[in-house]
Amino acid sequence: MVARTERDDATWYQCEQCGLMFDDRSDAEQHEEHCDAEDPSYIQ
Ligand SMILES: [Zn+2]
Repeated sequence: MVARTERDDATWYQCEQCGLMFDDRSDAEQHEEHCDAEDPSYIQ
């Protein structure tokens, strides 16, 4: 799910998986479909 955030009088859409922010909802949704950070792990 894309998270909606209001900041600086603008609405942003954030990928809940990697935290990347977009100013366009469809961009965010499209990114999230292909986001490869579904299981963030800094330990390998
Ligand atoms: Zn992402």
